[in-house]
Amino acid sequence: MSSLLEVNSEESSYPREECGVFAIYGHGEASRLAFFGLFALQHRGQESAGIVSSDGCQVWEHKGMGIAAEVFKEETLQKLPGKLAIGHVRYSTTGSSNLSNAQPFLVHFGDEYYALAHNGNIINAQKLREELESSGSIFQSTMDSEIIIHLMAPHLKDGLEEALVAALSRVEGAYCLIMLTRDKIIAARDTRGFRPLALGKLNGSWVVASETCAFDLVGAQYIRDVTPGEILIIDQNGVKSLNPFPPIKHCHCIFELIYFARPDSQIFGQNVYLYRKKLGHELAREYRPDVEIVMPFPDSGTYAALGYAEESRITFEMGMIRNHYIGRTFIQPSQPMRDFGVRVKLNPVKPLLAGKKVLIVEDSIIRGTTSRNRVQNLRGIGMKEIHMAVSCPPTIYPCPYGIDFSSKGELIAAKKENEKAIAEFIGLDSMHYLTVEGMIRATGLNKDCFCLACYTGNYPIAPPETIDKFCMEMK
Ligand code: 5GP
Ligand code: MG
Repeated sequence: MSSLLEVNSEESSYPREECGVFAIYGHGEASRLAFFGLFALQHRGQESAGIVSSDGCQVWEHKGMGIAAEVFKEETLQKLPGKLAIGHVRYSTTGSSNLSNAQPFLVHFGDEYYALAHNGNIINAQKLREELESSGSIFQSTMDSEIIIHLMAPHLKDGLEEALVAALSRVEGAYCLIMLTRDKIIAARDTRGFRPLALGKLNGSWVVASETCAFDLVGAQYIRDVTPGEILIIDQNGVKSLNPFPPIKHCHCIFELIYFARPDSQIFGQNVYLYRKKLGHELAREYRPDVEIVMPFPDSGTYAALGYAEESRITFEMGMIRNHYIGRTFIQPSQPMRDFGVRVKLNPVKPLLAGKKVLIVEDSIIRGTTSRNRVQNLRGIGMKEIHMAVSCPPTIYPCPYGIDFSSKGELIAAKKENEKAIAEFIGLDSMHYLTVEGMIRATGLNKDCFCLACYTGNYPIAPPETIDKFCMEMK
């Protein structure tokens, strides 16, 4: 008998993508364009999707579990009228996985509607929530994002801008926020700019999105990034920019560039594809095992592998072929099948690889289990040597700013004493992680504008106690 299993392939149990947000102001087909925007941002979260729209009087919402194409149908989009819409795709980083935690989060307060979509993670969420609950707030979800609405509520009598500034001045951590009222769209980015957020224009309408790849799909033009600490109010008067917070050193998440963002996006002033190729160039300068072929684990490793091949002049091959059609529910084999989880997603091209000395370029190693399974699968076809170059440094410290890579005991580079021990665990002949210097050099920018906490343990905002404890143990 076949059974259905929740998502998945080999990588599923592991590190979570965070969220994607999209907003559009002043377009006759706002919710349809929001759907396309979410479709382009789908890689940032596949757990739930939602859109809230406004026709100026009434506010409409539709949310569901799953990817945008499963959640929205023609009929649902028709029930989301109006010229304003915001949307969200989610992969939980805080709050559990259920519909009450799907976003946008919509409330009716006074005679106004407020819908909110959030990407990031609020560090002092627990403290704020306890404080709000003890003074009478009743929460509808376990999401940290809901806190922002509760913090705003007592100040709304002074105006929306005032309430938002009051709320955000209490919140610490990483956030890109989009809000919708009957006649306004608001976008805000935390003062350190951990996560990307961009402003675009589509004829007479304004769009805001986590990544510029969403603009390309809807035909909008990229105008600029929402700057860290900036609040944009978009209404019939156009776009108003507020900068109410004192400026602070920027801390862009480098892992967005290394893995999360789509390669066709422009984030933190970089094109993601070109940056990843430069990571490959840097790797090739740092590490040159004697191999005949350079290959990625597609898709995420492909761009750095191309860069490595370009710099080293070693032949690039797509040694493993990816199946792109693994849905959220996937029929399991009735009997245990060896390596099934690996083979269902990636399958080696045997005549190309058998008997060869190969370098695999991988974008990141978190737990090491995916890499280990894939390498074991490759060993099975009789390869001569397998080496691995990783296009980022060892991931040693957990992230409290919205990337859910695990806690103590899960990060392989934190558990093992050196590269040799990790190579042994994965089953490699040798391996090399890109240095922090190489990773930064590829950006062409100063290292001070990035958050490197997962590699260096230097947290730009004090992490919550649990992570603090973990870091102490690591030292
Ligand atoms: P590991 O070998 O550590 O088990 O898995 C590493 C693989 O997971 C790499 O191929 C990398 O591209 C992928 N990866 C890294 N971060 C994430 C993430 O946040 N979500 C998913 N699904 N995969 C990730
Ligand atoms: Mg990968």
